[in-house]
Amino acid sequence: MDKFDYDLFVIGAGSGGVRASRIAASLGARVAVAEAYRPGGTCVIRGCVPKKLMVYAAHFHEDFEDARGYGWTVPEANFSWPVLMAAKNREIARLEGIYEKLLANAGVTLMRGRATLADAHTVEIDGKRITAKNILIATGGWPAKPAIPGAELGITSNEAFELTDLPKRVLMVGGGYIAVEFAGIFHGLGAEVTLSYRGEEILRGFDDDVRKHLRGELEAKGIKVLLGHQVAAIERNGPGLRVRCAKGAPDLTVDAVMFATGRIPNTANLGLQQAGVKLDDGGAVVVDAFSRTSVENIYAVGDVTDRVQLTPVAIREGNAVAQTLFGARPVSVTHNNIPSAVFSQPPIGTVGDTEAQALAKYGQVEVYQSTFRPMKHTLSGRGEKSYMKLLVEPNTQKVVGVHMVGGDAPEIIQGIGIAVVAGLTKQQFDETVGIHPTAAEEFVTMKEKVLRQA
Ligand code: NDP
Repeated sequence: MDKFDYDLFVIGAGSGGVRASRIAASLGARVAVAEAYRPGGTCVIRGCVPKKLMVYAAHFHEDFEDARGYGWTVPEANFSWPVLMAAKNREIARLEGIYEKLLANAGVTLMRGRATLADAHTVEIDGKRITAKNILIATGGWPAKPAIPGAELGITSNEAFELTDLPKRVLMVGGGYIAVEFAGIFHGLGAEVTLSYRGEEILRGFDDDVRKHLRGELEAKGIKVLLGHQVAAIERNGPGLRVRCAKGAPDLTVDAVMFATGRIPNTANLGLQQAGVKLDDGGAVVVDAFSRTSVENIYAVGDVTDRVQLTPVAIREGNAVAQTLFGARPVSVTHNNIPSAVFSQPPIGTVGDTEAQALAKYGQVEVYQSTFRPMKHTLSGRGEKSYMKLLVEPNTQKVVGVHMVGGDAPEIIQGIGIAVVAGLTKQQFDETVGIHPTAAEEFVTMKEKVLRQA
């Protein structure tokens, strides 16, 4: 008779938790996973997946306009928010079902309900106590709102996926991934969008040229970007909202305020303190390179650890924990050179160092860059420009960073990411024959460089 009910109990059936559960079960472990909301987690239910569907929906606006330059007569197009929401909801339900099936087929027990820790080996769910040799915390994160009067009148990405109507005027607060992605979604679907960002330039942490280029493109499309701007309070104003702004900036009148002001780890009221699990000042679970917490048999992966808040990273961390516990040897995850994308319009793809990071690391960097009108827009007449940047470490000639703003940037950078992770040199990029005519070929034909010094 085993001392514990399960070898692994996972709290949270999102990207990281599901991967860990399935791999652990495939390695022979007895696994249960608890989910308080819907299997699939943020990414599938109210994050990456529905967001990308909405980006597609929004982009049709420009596609119809662009088609005219190619000889199409496009009658006036109309958009229905309820139709999009219903289609999106069906797809999310389908994916949720797939997640459930994957767990069942792997032999993982799915428990519906909110699980909390009673001690380092005991979980409580719906008044039942279950014991496990190992526990994995994979509870994700939750949108944060700033503590300003009337914050409760604003929505977050959670509610944006459930709105019954498209708001006519939207104020987006924040300048990160979610803010620029949803600014593009609402704008493309026909709303008047203003983005309020407290800093000097949107997308802090991205390459400075990328940030500037994207902001210019958002503005050119008609999104109003307010920099150095802060929302001080929100009040009801008839059916809409009045937004009071700091530092004498004029009030704004909108139909919806959406906060995209970061996400906080879901660690409250989980019983982590009782079990002795250490949290950092921001409430994230502190883990080592193997995702092990301060308690020997308790692990944590994904957004709840606030390392890199990206689905594929959580999936890797989940896999690594399962391998470490039940596989042949411990597996850790490196968090270097992680390619990522912002599904803004136009989108961003990026891998490796920004110019500022490269200068800080190497003292100098060779910069190759190009700004051009995509071929598609020669006939469409659209003014949108693409931007590409390649950063090379002068001594080794290794390509240490690649950045792009423009159509298909995420698809292109996924491929280029392999070259950067492999540590390939500029010469090896140059030896690769371009595919013509594409935008991506620019990355293997860049000739003019500028040497920048720290
Ligand atoms: P981010 O951390 O990317 O951005 C948060 C933004 O809100 C920043 O511009 C920040 O400003 C601002 N902000 C924070 N607090 C306040 C405040 N109190 N008042 C005003 N502004 C504030 O978070 P997101 O919410 O956009 O997304 C969360 C995470 O989810 C991302 O970091 C990303 O890892 C992940 N994600 C990834 C996506 C993708 O891969 N495409 C898509 C969506 C999310 P400042 O810069 O000054 O700190």
